Amino acid sequence: MEKSVESDQDHECVIGAVPTCPDCGSDNVVKDAWAYWDPDVGAWCLRTVFDMCCCDECGKEMTPLWRKAE
Ligand SMILES: [Zn+2]
Repeated sequence: MEKSVESDQDHECVIGAVPTCPDCGSDNVVKDAWAYWDPDVGAWCLRTVFDMCCCDECGKEMTPLWRKAE
């Protein structure tokens, strides 16, 4: 199974910006991801983040718009 997690970093991590929903404008955006249990931390830790984005406000799957945080 090949994963291209690193390849989309250029438009994923915009420093000082927040992903927003193009439909309702909310910044309550969540991403599809896998987490693994880290016994040292005692919590679920992020392993892989997928391309799929979803707006927690209106529930739509979308490509987020990056907006500069105030
Ligand atoms: Zn929305």
